[in-house]
Amino acid sequence: MISDWEPGRLDSDLQDAGFDTLAVRAGQQRSPEAEHGEALFLTSSYVFRSASDAAACFSGERVGNVYSRYMNPTVRTFEQRIAALENAEQAVATASGMAAILATVMSLCSAGDHILVSRSVFGATVSLFDKYFQRFGVEVDYVTLADLDAWRAACKPNTRLFFVESPSNPLAELVDIRGLAAVAKEQGALLAVDNCFCTPALQKPLDLGADIVIHSATKYIDGQGRCLGGVVAGRKEHMQEVVGFLRTAGPTLSPFNAWVFLKGLETLRLRMQAHCAAALELARWLEQQPQVERVYYAGLPSHPQHELAKAQQSAFGAVVSFEVRGGREAAWRFIDATRLISITANLGDAKSTITHPASTTHGRLSAETREAAGIREGLIRLAVGLEEVADLRTDLQRGLDAAGS
Ligand SMILES: *Cc1c(COP(=O)(O)O)cnc(C)c1O
Repeated sequence: MISDWEPGRLDSDLQDAGFDTLAVRAGQQRSPEAEHGEALFLTSSYVFRSASDAAACFSGERVGNVYSRYMNPTVRTFEQRIAALENAEQAVATASGMAAILATVMSLCSAGDHILVSRSVFGATVSLFDKYFQRFGVEVDYVTLADLDAWRAACKPNTRLFFVESPSNPLAELVDIRGLAAVAKEQGALLAVDNCFCTPALQKPLDLGADIVIHSATKYIDGQGRCLGGVVAGRKEHMQEVVGFLRTAGPTLSPFNAWVFLKGLETLRLRMQAHCAAALELARWLEQQPQVERVYYAGLPSHPQHELAKAQQSAFGAVVSFEVRGGREAAWRFIDATRLISITANLGDAKSTITHPASTTHGRLSAETREAAGIREGLIRLAVGLEEVADLRTDLQRGLDAAGS
């Protein structure tokens, strides 16, 4: 030990601090080594002073680290920083975004409960609800995201949870989160919002009345395509249940990944601002191209929920979907003609990515289900990264030229 720094002392006075300050500093506790950067505690377990000290830590009589499935200082810093950014009483980190959804349902729902899920959610989320939760006696029904009356009408006496993404992937549909939270409350259900596309830099679902917010940290929280992780945040009473499930079942976040995400959070708002500005510019440009039939981006006045997006988000996100004329053949020609943008289904990376949802992320759905969800054959999803906008436009022009040929 080279300093008398008091271990566990919170590093900064963050009373009334703004978003960017919290993103850089919240949750950091210096060790006695007086390190300036957040320490990476790459350890699976911790030592005890004596056998009786071990017993005291296990029983909770003394607060101490026990085992990294239970707690880890680097993971705790990440959890506290997310809680500060989402305005949550507590946040709990998980091994992936899917593990965050799993932990939420496993800890807050039981056999016999009914869950309402938006029709417009991530593909793996649908599989998790359909293939696995239903197998364990949880009833699941799907509702059109924006239709508040449909949510109310689909409720049953045993409805326990509403699950949504807003904006949705890939068509950027929104729900009035405040309105849906009121319906959930009136029905005695909890509202969980997957806030992956907006991050707390653009939207804070808990402030809008949601009970639980969920993230795939793999996307914009990392921001550079390196690590998988997730997080759940909300009220203490619910998060204690999630902690209990994770400690027992084990899909906890690796401290290394937590450390990478802490570094990602420091630049989150700046990155989101740049992503969103570039996405808006490209969406406007795409809307003017004759080969493009329609652009789905809530930042455009032509989007049916543009006003709602302006009211509940501070910007419109970085995923721009658009339909090219000529169906699948034209969409594939477009994608294959790009030379800079990566052909990959991931998003939330500094590198822009392009994908054909009908044959990849939504490829396992039947043609009718896909059509009902509005995923047409000419649809292309672009997740705008941090490259120069002019270079991205040049690359998209190659796609347009090939699509129209
Ligand atoms: C990627 C994603 C997930 C799943 O997250 P993983 O970290 O890949 O497990 C969940 N929800 C949304 C909206 C996503 O984009």
